[in-house]
Amino acid sequence: MQSNHSDNKKEQYNLNKLQKRLRRNVGQAIADFNMIEEGDRIMVCLSGGKDSYTMLEILRSLQQSAPVSFSLVAVNLDQKQPGFPGHILPEYLEAQGVEYKIVEEDTYAIVKDKIPEGKTTCSLCSRLRRGILYRTATELGCTKIALGHHRDDIVQTLFLNMFYGGKMKGMPPKLMSDDGQHIVIRPLAYCREKDIERFAIAREYPIIPCNLCGSQPNLQRQVIGDMLRDWDKRYPGRIETMFSAMQNVVPSHLADTELFDFKGIVHGSEVVGGGDLAFDRETLPMQPAGWQPEDEDDAPVRLNVLQVG
Ligand code: SF4
Repeated sequence: MQSNHSDNKKEQYNLNKLQKRLRRNVGQAIADFNMIEEGDRIMVCLSGGKDSYTMLEILRSLQQSAPVSFSLVAVNLDQKQPGFPGHILPEYLEAQGVEYKIVEEDTYAIVKDKIPEGKTTCSLCSRLRRGILYRTATELGCTKIALGHHRDDIVQTLFLNMFYGGKMKGMPPKLMSDDGQHIVIRPLAYCREKDIERFAIAREYPIIPCNLCGSQPNLQRQVIGDMLRDWDKRYPGRIETMFSAMQNVVPSHLADTELFDFKGIVHGSEVVGGGDLAFDRETLPMQPAGWQPEDEDDAPVRLNVLQVG
């Protein structure tokens, strides 16, 4: 009996620490990218997966302590995939007292009609979804659209683009939408997937499976995901370091002539980006850049926009 009680206390303590870390990471990303401003109405895209539930909960909790006032409206797009449990999200959102809208559009039928059997359906499906979400944001008077991609998604996209697209391009924490009308934000940009996973399990969110459309998983994404997970296991801190690298770009030490004027380097030019270390052995820090030990949860954080405790 005693042991049960102390196990519960420990679980609660760990959950509080986890929530604190997620709040801190989200608050920091919001501040760094100026994601949320006074009076914003934010459309929180809710798919029913662990990431979007976590994003909604953390944004709601930050709303209580933020120095700026903003409102949230959760939006789910019911794409009429076979077996989609349409009652789950309305029930959850009602119980939480969250303003929400369920948009019903049969994109599943369109995709099935247009794409031949056996071909990948994701690009048309996501294009349709994007258009509907932008339209919904306008109808709801939303100033920002929040998506639940996290740090691991961002690093994964960088590698996908490098390995298969020959491009150094990730997934931005904040961007202008394709229609030029909306600002899209990714408040979980600094959150680790494993934290979100643990939080979602502890919270017992009613997760809706993501394979209802019957589409084959993207093989390339799977390969990169496995590679990153394996690296993370063998070299803890590596994903953090790679994410840090995305925040420390040195254009003069890459090879993009659009990004840096290499032709303009002539005798007498100034030294840029630390000069040439090609002949030197660089001293690399023992601790991977950007790495944080798991239990540094009590470190105080100073934020510009959202002050989180
Ligand atoms: S996995 Fe299914 S629902 Fe998701 S984008 Fe692809 S086709 Fe659409």
